[in-house]
Amino acid sequence: MTAGPTREPFDPARFLSNPSTGRMGYALASAALARGGEVTLISGPTPLPPPDGVNLVRVETAEEMFRATLNQAQGADLVLKAAAVADYRPEERSRSKIKKETLRRRSGRREAGDRAITLRLVATPDILAELGRRRKPHQVLVGFAAETGDLERNARIKLRRKNLDFVVANRIGTSGEGFGSGTNRAIVVRRAGKPLALPLMPKEEMAQAILDLAVPLLLERARHAGRARAKR
Ligand code: C5P
Repeated sequence: MTAGPTREPFDPARFLSNPSTGRMGYALASAALARGGEVTLISGPTPLPPPDGVNLVRVETAEEMFRATLNQAQGADLVLKAAAVADYRPEERSRSKIKKETLRRRSGRREAGDRAITLRLVATPDILAELGRRRKPHQVLVGFAAETGDLERNARIKLRRKNLDFVVANRIGTSGEGFGSGTNRAIVVRRAGKPLALPLMPKEEMAQAILDLAVPLLLERARHAGRARAKR
């Protein structure tokens, strides 16, 4: 599982991030542990206590999450990517705190009173898309999508583009759903079958519902792998 936000610093005192608290990912880790799973939780910065018995890997940036996840996913049957990974990071990272004057000078604007600055951003690697490319036959890959627009359409695009088994899509900007909330409402878009609506419920319950969808896929893959081995 991955959970929480990533932080993309541009000096030792400042970073770009998002309001993810990691609650959905931590709930998934707890639920999987309770079902007897061996769970690695790759977590961005969050004050949440890790569930007992989890193998916790703490990361800060998208780049660090990329390396940790690719490393850990090799041996995983199920990958649930609940983290809100930053899609962009500041191109430059200063070792010392950038002074206000330096920022202004760097922006190239010197007119008196003009305090606008420019921060150049570059893309971070898409972890899930890379896992989709390297996917092993027995692996089940699940993505999350936090959207303000057309939930189902965007989830379907992610499902195809990232080669996933299903995408759990929730709306952001609505109270009781998504970032930081204790509850969530989502649509699950699958490769086969109609989209499935998960009504408003606590994130712990939603974690159980997501595992209920993932487990049959895991069993099916394991059976396939077993048959393939028997043929050889
Ligand atoms: O950012 P996006 O909406 O495409 O995120 C959808 C899914 O992809 C999420 O499960 C998220 O954790 C994952 N993701 C990722 N690496 C990124 C961006 C998103 O694994 N750089």
